[in-house]
Amino acid sequence: MARQEKFDAVVVGAGFSGLYMLHLLRQQGLKVVLLETAPEVGGTWYWNRYPGLRCDIESMQYCYTFDKGLDEKWRWSERFPRQPEILEYLKFAADHLDLRRDIRFETRLSAATWIEDEGVWRLESENGDTIECRYCAMATGLLAEPVLPDIPGVGDFEGQSIHSARWPEGLNDFTGKRVGLVGTGSSGVQLVPELAKTAKSLHVLIRTPPFAQESHNRSLEEEEIASVRAEIDVLRERARHNATGVWFRRFSDAYPYRSVPLEERQAELSRCWGEGGNSVLNRFNDVLIDPDANAEIAQFMRDRIAEIVDDPETARLLSPHGVFAAKRLPIGTGYHAAFNRDNVHVVALKEEPIETIHAGGVRTTKADYPFDVLVYATGYDAGTGALSKIKISGRNGADINQRWADDGPGAFMGIIAADFPNFFILTGPGSPGVLSNVVVMIEMHCEWTAECIDWMERNNVRTIDARQEDQDAWMDDIHSMAEGTLVMKEDNWYTGSNIAGKKRGMMFYMAGLGTYRKAIYDEAAKGYSDFVLERGES
Ligand code: FAD
Ligand code: NAP
Repeated sequence: MARQEKFDAVVVGAGFSGLYMLHLLRQQGLKVVLLETAPEVGGTWYWNRYPGLRCDIESMQYCYTFDKGLDEKWRWSERFPRQPEILEYLKFAADHLDLRRDIRFETRLSAATWIEDEGVWRLESENGDTIECRYCAMATGLLAEPVLPDIPGVGDFEGQSIHSARWPEGLNDFTGKRVGLVGTGSSGVQLVPELAKTAKSLHVLIRTPPFAQESHNRSLEEEEIASVRAEIDVLRERARHNATGVWFRRFSDAYPYRSVPLEERQAELSRCWGEGGNSVLNRFNDVLIDPDANAEIAQFMRDRIAEIVDDPETARLLSPHGVFAAKRLPIGTGYHAAFNRDNVHVVALKEEPIETIHAGGVRTTKADYPFDVLVYATGYDAGTGALSKIKISGRNGADINQRWADDGPGAFMGIIAADFPNFFILTGPGSPGVLSNVVVMIEMHCEWTAECIDWMERNNVRTIDARQEDQDAWMDDIHSMAEGTLVMKEDNWYTGSNIAGKKRGMMFYMAGLGTYRKAIYDEAAKGYSDFVLERGES
């Protein structure tokens, strides 16, 4: 029988965000429940299990920082951890914090409706249960809704079709199989070397060659762990206030690329390349501002590709053009080198566009490629995808998804959308979101939300909402920030341009995590006065 219940707060999603949000609100004495579609915690790290998936941030940085016990009891094995290790970490965190008793798995939220007279949200889950609550924290993820490409015939393929985000458990042997891979963003870059190991043939269908950077992964030895731990509090504090939420031990400050002579900056670039990961991007603070700096770094990257790839024609096809790091930089392990194998081939879609996918494979303007397996590493409906699957009705029947379809995605201060009171959107549009070490972003949003709710409870504030004009101004600022950078020079999923019919516009706050943190905490310090607050009856 369907349940009807009342809670103080409901958290939706059991990834990094939802788990921490549940912990914080519960600690504050609220009656909270968490709803999760999946049968397990993990979010991104539960759903994505393609071979080769690793974090693009170092393990000792891509983890919670709020609980010393978690740090002391967990030991990362590698510099850039694999997906199973991160999933285990999140399971461990859920157990350590005793969260599971308040999580309802296999429970998908299908609708949320604001009931003005009662000042509550009425939530309906797919199984028919309803919950009324004062506060909603939407931890539904910024990269949670996978998309297939809009290629003719995509449904006609009769072999095995797999999206990177819905990988069949344990599948990593493609012996005897002719595999086609569409997409070379972060997911495709990590998949290529793994598929290449066993496939009879691997054709990588590349529309935009990526500026993939090598991870230079290694196992973590006790000595390194101990020396990082010795200064971890300082490093973490640095990451909380800098632009990207990432710390480096070799340097703490980024500087303008061309502020030093050519020889010196090229030497530093080589050092960063050698370090791997996101070092290049974080070392210089104008990579996405100064076109000449960007062009010089892009050429440096192309030169490295030419060194790695044996065949000059293949190297040419793999060479990225355009802006370096306009999209999140893919961090791979042996991506370019994989093309030196006899069984791996480039299909350059700019030179031979796809005409159609058909029952037996893919036909381009130049050739027909027969496949047994087609892998789509074609990305996500970012920022709003998971929320778009929920019917969300706010004040006066406002429909959040209709508003976002009409005006473009947005939220005031990147957390509350106008006419959706007490509805906290974690890592959503208008926040730095994916332009960061996302776990640092997540901890900030969860803590801010928990403090806001605590303040409301203590000050008899019934609702917190935003004005549409303030939200528009916030999003206009974000669009202006982006226009001043090189990011907008290219099609980019940060702007929704990978989704047919989605209104284009920069979704994420580009002035940096630290600047954003200051903005939202200044707002808290002045009693959230730029929001619309409604006091309860005393
Ligand atoms: P998610 O982990 O996406 O969790 C959202 C949860 O909400 C999911 O479990 C989903 O099932 C649930 N949910 C959604 N809708 C509903 C509903 N209607 N009802 C109930 N439950 C629902 N970031 C980095 O900083 N570094 C990385 O290396 C990195 N790697 C990534 C790799 C991949 C393949 C992807 C897709 C993303 C990656 N990210 C990375 C971004 C990553 O999404 C975040 O770092 C982080 O894991 C997000 O956590 P979250 O809890 O906010 O959302
Ligand atoms: P993505 O970056 O959006 O890449 C999608 C790829 O599919 C692109 O190469 C795109 O080409 C291609 N594509 C899309 N439609 C196509 C079409 N019709 N024809 C041909 N090619 C098409 O997706 P993703 O790789 O899954 O990564 C998304 C984000 O998730 C990342 O940026 C990152 O934030 C996160 N992620 C992180 C990691 C990690 O390292 N830990 C791993 C995976 C994902 P174009 O470039 O030409 O559009």
